[in-house]
Amino acid sequence: MKALVTGAAGFIGSHLAEKLVAEGMDVLGIDNFSDYYDRRLKDYNLRRLRDEDNFSLLEADLLEQGLPQILADRDLVFHQAAQAGVRASWGEDFQIYSDSNVLATQRLLEAANEVGIDKFVYASSSSVYGETEDLPMQEDGRTRPVSPYGVTKLAGENLCQLYHHNFGLPVVSLRYFTVYGERQRPDMAFHIFIKSILQCEPITIFGDGQQSRNFTYIEDAVTANLLAARTNVSGEVFNIGGPDGNIELNRAVDIIEEKAGQSPGREYQGEVDGDVRHTAADCSKAAEMLGYEPKTGLEAGIEAEVEYIREVYDL
Ligand code: NAD
Repeated sequence: MKALVTGAAGFIGSHLAEKLVAEGMDVLGIDNFSDYYDRRLKDYNLRRLRDEDNFSLLEADLLEQGLPQILADRDLVFHQAAQAGVRASWGEDFQIYSDSNVLATQRLLEAANEVGIDKFVYASSSSVYGETEDLPMQEDGRTRPVSPYGVTKLAGENLCQLYHHNFGLPVVSLRYFTVYGERQRPDMAFHIFIKSILQCEPITIFGDGQQSRNFTYIEDAVTANLLAARTNVSGEVFNIGGPDGNIELNRAVDIIEEKAGQSPGREYQGEVDGDVRHTAADCSKAAEMLGYEPKTGLEAGIEAEVEYIREVYDL
């Protein structure tokens, strides 16, 4: 099988590409190395992949590249590329979000439909739900994002559904819930907290710390992609969460402090626009239809991320 992984230099894309390569697939990665975060971290993400014979990387923008040519010999598309980050999506930078998350997704779907593929797996997000009292979140629940980022991820997901309904394109969307672990993006809370705590610097928590998330370890998110590619189900959306249910941020920080062996203190600041108070995934649909069963709990997952942060920053 031949796969295309978009966003292959990023956090989730690089892990997914490694797994596909290990399974013997021929993998082409595409990434524009957007300047959202330090390129050195992306080079680190790719360091193992670059030595693999069945991996190649195209440094290019999905908005500029002739996509039908790239997809012509590909069986599977794993569309992980996006402009991520909730907080930066307000204001002037929204254009980057609409270009990379909506327009690029439409271009990729158009090309996939033109050349024909076996499966298109789209990296969606729990941010499509927005604020809801109906917890845990279910796939057929209301989608009303509370951030511009969430709006663009929902638009991408709706485009996927559209290409499935109109043209029969075999699409599956995975709504990831706060993915963490080795190589997590440097703008994400665990990455920032672990780095500060290892440097003995107090951390800043936005809100009271009682907000909760369904944290998903990277390996479980990767497994979900493989299951989605293998299933003959298409035109479906699945929640992809971790095994612990929703956990308060304060509790997660307790675990980080314990694994890092330091407690330099916490400062609490006002909440940030676009942050949802609670996310909790009902993963029963993914369990039933994909056989998805998240395996790694928060203690083991945080331990792995602490080791990564120590290594990458030499702490
Ligand atoms: P990331 O920023 O580490 O990876 C995304 C990659 O896409 C980056 O390397 C970037 O350079 C690339 N990219 C962006 N625009 C591009 C374009 N126009 N052309 C080519 N490449 C482009 O982010 P991540 O955390 O690995 O997220 C991967 C996917 O998962 C994204 O679609 C994101 O919306 C989604 N997601 C992530 C999380 C999470 O917790 N990390 C949660 C929900 C959804």
